[in-house]
Amino acid sequence: MIAYLEHFVHGNDTESTPNDDVSSLQGSFHFSPISIATKDFGGMKSSTPLAVIRPYSTADVARAVKAATTTTNLTVAPRGNGHSINGQAMAEKGLVLDMRATAEEHFQLLYHDGVPYVDVSGGALWEEVLKRCVSQFQLVPRSWTDYLGLTVGGTLSNAGVSGQTFRYGPQTANVTELEVVTGKGDTLVCNENQNSELFFATLGGLGQFGIITRARIVLQQAPDMVRWIRVIYSEFEDFTKDAEWLVTLPEGDGFDYVEGFVVANNDDPCNGWPTVLMGSNQVFDPVQVPSSAGPVLYCLELALHYRKTARSSDVNKRVDRLLGGLRFVEGIKFEDDVKYMDFLLRVKSVEEDAKAKGIWDAPHPWLNMFVSKSDIADFDREVFKKILKHGVGGPILVYPLLRSKWDDRHSVVVPDSNIFYIIALLRFIPPPPKGPPTDKLVSQNNAIIQLCYNRGYNFKLYLPHYLSQDNWMRHFGDKWTRFVQRKQNFDPMAILAPGQKIFSRNQ
Ligand code: FAD
Repeated sequence: MIAYLEHFVHGNDTESTPNDDVSSLQGSFHFSPISIATKDFGGMKSSTPLAVIRPYSTADVARAVKAATTTTNLTVAPRGNGHSINGQAMAEKGLVLDMRATAEEHFQLLYHDGVPYVDVSGGALWEEVLKRCVSQFQLVPRSWTDYLGLTVGGTLSNAGVSGQTFRYGPQTANVTELEVVTGKGDTLVCNENQNSELFFATLGGLGQFGIITRARIVLQQAPDMVRWIRVIYSEFEDFTKDAEWLVTLPEGDGFDYVEGFVVANNDDPCNGWPTVLMGSNQVFDPVQVPSSAGPVLYCLELALHYRKTARSSDVNKRVDRLLGGLRFVEGIKFEDDVKYMDFLLRVKSVEEDAKAKGIWDAPHPWLNMFVSKSDIADFDREVFKKILKHGVGGPILVYPLLRSKWDDRHSVVVPDSNIFYIIALLRFIPPPPKGPPTDKLVSQNNAIIQLCYNRGYNFKLYLPHYLSQDNWMRHFGDKWTRFVQRKQNFDPMAILAPGQKIFSRNQ
């Protein structure tokens, strides 16, 4: 181990001037094989770090960052579960911190003014948080992502969005306190009142200001069951009107989860009608689709929570009342009653299936963006109905979110519009030569982004990826100065998360 660190300090980094902090790492660090951090879920970028450290505590994280500050060129990338698409958790010739090693830290329930919260590690998976919270407290976080194999620190560095976001805001809006190791190696507790600038900067901060080692998350009582519903629209206008109506209903009056997706109007097993079905006993009858329908259809996906003691007639009544106000194609409705936990873990089976077919580990040229309500009809005409009319080999998500649920003080930027839509092109395609060349799909993504610029849409990339600082400036717009100031305050040497390619390491 000592020889290894000699190599790390002197061999590859000859200009560095290590001090006692670096030598204090010796013997106290654990390392993982470098190979785990050379790739990510996107499968399109590769980068070789100097070392992959397994920190077991906040003190380990702080020591690693402090060590980097004593060198002239080392960077540090916290790696959650490596589910980024474009190398965001990588550090070429730098240190990667495998935050999963800290997953077991900090699991504690607390109450404040009668509201329950849980302290969890930044390296815990949301799936682990769910299972522990349900089994130990019968309580759960309120805001989720669709897929739960992501770390708390990884999603809080972006936003964390799913069908509950319309009601509770993104996951970043459901955190009241963080413990963060800044780019100076300082460990600070921050919240709205204490070190507040660091708190707001870190949420949605793309890992640029600090490494989240602990997050305090708001909890609610765990529902027992979910009525899970899918209805189909042939007209985009009807789909958006209904979705927007549902997301503006007051809590208790509407559904607990609202999402939507686009499907090709054909029987293609990966892109068409079959993807709407929720069980092998369900059948999609295309005769019901109006002849006026275009090349794509729209599916509204809804869920209502209920207790297992609830009478099914009461659940039916609530669902019927809500569905009664909607304009979906009559006769095309699918539903199922599932356990709440199974509902939240629904993407797990997609993962297993994709692994079995060899498309989980294939490249994923995904595109995520937020498009304002004012531009979404044009986006439908130009992108869904033309460029993507045959589908992307996986889900094309589209559903509305409310600007009022996003905190402007956080670093994430979203369109300035009361309602905006998340669009997610979640391509699952066999690797070439069986599937199309990955470059071609990346070009299609870029063409869509370019179209958004050309047509003057009010939009932002979600999970953004840019290679030039000019593009980052455009992304952040009038929030760029604040972003730069925050970097100056909390990571002045630009040590953290170099894979985002926003800043270059200073001395
Ligand atoms: P990583 O990819 O490991 O890291 C992401 C960034 O965060 C990097 O810059 C990294 O340096 C930084 N980082 C990691 N840990 C920390 C930490 N503790 N402190 C500070 N910075 C840190 N997103 C949604 O919003 N909703 C979804 O429904 C959703 N579903 C997804 C499904 C799949 C199958 C995949 C692959 C992605 C999905 N995403 C979704 C995107 C996902 O939220 C982001 O890619 C997220 O960053 C991945 O988390 P991770 O733990 O793998 O982070």
